[in-house]
Amino acid sequence: DSKVNIDYNNNNDTAIDSKNAIIQVNNLSKKFKGMKDLKALEHVSFNVKKGEMIVIIGPNGSGKSTLINCLSGTIMPSSGKIRICNHSDTRNVGVCYQKNVFINRLTVREHFELFGAYRGVPDDILENSIENFAETLNLRHMMNNRAGNLSGGQKRKLCIALSLLGNPPVVLMDEPTAGVDVQGRMIIWKMISSLKDTTSIITSHELEEAETLSSRMFIMTYGKVSFTGTSTELRKENKCGYVLRIDSESGNAQSVLKLAQSFVPDAEISEDREDVIRMPSNRRIADFLQAF
Ligand code: ADP
Ligand code: MG
Repeated sequence: DSKVNIDYNNNNDTAIDSKNAIIQVNNLSKKFKGMKDLKALEHVSFNVKKGEMIVIIGPNGSGKSTLINCLSGTIMPSSGKIRICNHSDTRNVGVCYQKNVFINRLTVREHFELFGAYRGVPDDILENSIENFAETLNLRHMMNNRAGNLSGGQKRKLCIALSLLGNPPVVLMDEPTAGVDVQGRMIIWKMISSLKDTTSIITSHELEEAETLSSRMFIMTYGKVSFTGTSTELRKENKCGYVLRIDSESGNAQSVLKLAQSFVPDAEISEDREDVIRMPSNRRIADFLQAF
């Protein structure tokens, strides 16, 4: 597409160097034409290396789906460059879209057979996978039912299973757990996090899920990736954590600081108040409070 400018130099994610990246996104932008041209993605750049599980969070309309759809090749970006290792063979990328994609009149089993054939999964491995998915996703009793008759949660599980069929090395999922009950969500996340050697980019609106499961989180706001890093880095960068105000005669918190630091080394006196200790989130805060 002649409208797509390639800019190899604008790469502001230095965490992963491009040599090791299995997914490279450079200066990606997407405008939607309309009453007022809308920039759904603006100069997005990042690298993902093999085996990473990236969870993208961000408010509605921040561009998460647009990014996933560009990565999966479903829509064309306005400019920028995407490189996914071996992407020329679509069998290498498993995609679960925000909206479920399936054929109402085919049964669950027929979906597995169809997608298995498309991905070139050998018969014995396919049978094995069908068994596995039926068991772990609680779909065994629905295998011969038409997909159109499944419940919302079951439809979602089917689409997730189809995206994972044949073990594609790269998996893209757009809000895989949306509309699924708590138990179903746990099953799905357990399945996703058990994937070894798979590189995945998953969007979610559950901050907690993102924190516990991702190897790195991306935060999107207004079409930009405004943060990439671990949840610990995120908390640190945003000074998230706890404040403890010490009410003492000296009027400062020095007397408690040493004790706090023996549990939480990064504890410090607040810049603006000397009676306040700031502590980043840390498992040992409870132990410190008990000792205190
Ligand atoms: P998210 O997935 O984070 O909720 P989206 O990527 O779906 O956000 O949308 C980002 C922005 O792009 C929104 O303002 C949305 O309205 C707009 N948008 C998405 N798809 C289209 C489209 N096909 N045509 C016009 N605008 C769109
Ligand atoms: Mg979306």
